Amino acid sequence: MKNLFDKSDAKKIVQTFPDVPEALALRVYTSRLIGREPGLVLHGGGNTSVKLKIKNILGDEEEVLFVKGSGRDLSTIDPEGFAGLDLGFIRKFRHLAHLTDDEMQEQLSIRKVRANSPDPSVEALLHAFLPHRYVDHTHADSILVLTNQKDGQNLVKQALGSGVVVLPYIMPGVPLAKGAIKLYEAHSDVEAIVVMNHGIFTFGDDAAASYSRMIDYVNRAEIFMNQNQTRVPHSNPSGASRDDDIKAARVVQFIRGACAHKDKKGRLRRFYTEIRRAPDILDISLSGDAGEICRTGAITPDHVIRTKNRAVHIGHIPETDEALQKIVHEAVDVYQKAYRKYFLSQVNEKQVKVEMLDPFPRIFLAAGVGIVALGLTRKSARIAADIAEHTIRVKSLAGAAGGYVPISDSHAFDMEYWRLQQKKVSKDPGGPLTGQVALVTGAGGAIGFGIADTLMAAGAVVVISDIDEPRLKKVHSILAEKYHESQIEHVVFDVTEYDSVENGLTEISQRVGGIDTVVPNAGIAHVATIETLAPETFEKVIAVNLMGVFNIIKASIPIFKRQGTGGNIILVSSKNVFDPGAAFGAYSASKAGAHQLSKIAALELADLGVRVNMLNPDAVFGDQEVSSKMWDLIGPDRMKSRGLDPEGLKEYYRQRNLLKISVQAEHVGNAVVFFAGESVPTTGATLPIDGGVPAAFPR
Ligand SMILES: [Zn+2]
Repeated sequence: MKNLFDKSDAKKIVQTFPDVPEALALRVYTSRLIGREPGLVLHGGGNTSVKLKIKNILGDEEEVLFVKGSGRDLSTIDPEGFAGLDLGFIRKFRHLAHLTDDEMQEQLSIRKVRANSPDPSVEALLHAFLPHRYVDHTHADSILVLTNQKDGQNLVKQALGSGVVVLPYIMPGVPLAKGAIKLYEAHSDVEAIVVMNHGIFTFGDDAAASYSRMIDYVNRAEIFMNQNQTRVPHSNPSGASRDDDIKAARVVQFIRGACAHKDKKGRLRRFYTEIRRAPDILDISLSGDAGEICRTGAITPDHVIRTKNRAVHIGHIPETDEALQKIVHEAVDVYQKAYRKYFLSQVNEKQVKVEMLDPFPRIFLAAGVGIVALGLTRKSARIAADIAEHTIRVKSLAGAAGGYVPISDSHAFDMEYWRLQQKKVSKDPGGPLTGQVALVTGAGGAIGFGIADTLMAAGAVVVISDIDEPRLKKVHSILAEKYHESQIEHVVFDVTEYDSVENGLTEISQRVGGIDTVVPNAGIAHVATIETLAPETFEKVIAVNLMGVFNIIKASIPIFKRQGTGGNIILVSSKNVFDPGAAFGAYSASKAGAHQLSKIAALELADLGVRVNMLNPDAVFGDQEVSSKMWDLIGPDRMKSRGLDPEGLKEYYRQRNLLKISVQAEHVGNAVVFFAGESVPTTGATLPIDGGVPAAFPR
């Protein structure tokens, strides 16, 4: 690992924050260096601090501890991300015989020197007790490879030398703070403290020294491991072929379905999945160590809330869906039972009253497929996957060196159910469609854009597709900016080609886990009387508007089956189905066909819990950001035939409905969200979105 401290970069950061004391700006700089190195910390892990003398409003000088705010990410931290605390006062807490978590939190909260400071890290007291100006703490992989082995204490001493003292595992928070300062005072010449099964603290009188010691000790651990490894950890060949993509997609669809569950309020909670298929991870997944890696606990207790303590191993991926379903469902059942047992035995032993978290796994290691991580949001799935990658590598190395030894279930439980840890993960289910994946075809145009926008506002992860990549990318970037990039994906495919659709859906499953709501929206139109309509043009319109809908519905069915959690198909049909217009035969006939096909799908898919409903909008023109592709093309013909300009055409459509309303893409989106929310038991229905056109009333 490279020491990235650079004097000119450090100077730049100091200049970036002219109103901040230089020592704090340098703290920001080296904290970011640490945060950006995944071999040191992951997603909000680790913490750092600096001690300063600052004049208060009365002109009196006081000692202030600036320590990372709880849950803040070191890689992006700024001065406001540090909590400023009255160091003179909180330092004395080490002499208290008892200090509960609640008392600690309250005391740290009222000892803030800035009203808008974030809540401090749970390790704030440890930072306060150590006398050094700078303290850095990480969960470095290479340190954990050493601490999580049989005879780990001796290995750490051998690898890191006499500048380090080793503390046996101890619960973070007050116990760790007290244990660390006691140990430090008995060996006050050391530069670092290693905590077994947890990580390392380094310290120094300036930012560069403390950071450089961190990098130095992490490198010593790495070199020692490389020299003392007893065997090659894994040795299976790998290769991700087309077949493997399809296999991986099937596996994640089954996993996603097997882990979906009703929460305490009766709401169906679905997970998003994140797959990781780096060559070494695939090798490990195929190796004889894979089972043991999944059975053993976390590498550092901070990870338990993100990944749970253990993972599920799928050792064999059978060819048939029936066999694969059995394997995945059985594995999830076994995991759940073991989790309940662990929970009950811990609450009985400890005599504590806490509510059990959901008993579903967050990490799978599937042979030849890789890591499949789950999260109730996509962000949490990604975090779990990042942690799992590091965990699996560390365990593989420790296992190869002699034997991996995790913390006990009792310690894991203390961390998993520690209120201060649970605060870091949101329990908020988000919008009504959070957990769902929705696919919108033809999303390069106005209606598809509007539907995707409304679905994202309702919390769904939306996959937009279109054959027109530049338009698709434009919609993607607008929506990623409006919401969050993790909530949107785009996949280019051609709805008229079945293989293209199938590949697109495989890709989607690999990226997010499957599909719950499918919105066939891609459509084209052509203005011509039957007499003047070229047969090839008619076929082209049929190919997109009818075959396209057939292809997307057909390709979705195996996914719905594997997930086993129902779903929705919501067809963007047309007011024309009931109220056709002359010179619009290709469009009206193709839409009528798709409409009828959807009714058949409603009949055939009800057994799977899949609802199929149809929306009949009248003309939607789009806005400045994303125009309607269709109206860009056919608008001029329509205008010509009615002798109108663009504004006149819009007004013509508005005036022809009962409510005198211009139909917007958002209106269609609202209807999609309504059906996807499944608040009414409806399938096979048609909902007009046309302001009221009597000739188009469904009948
Ligand atoms: Zn830690």
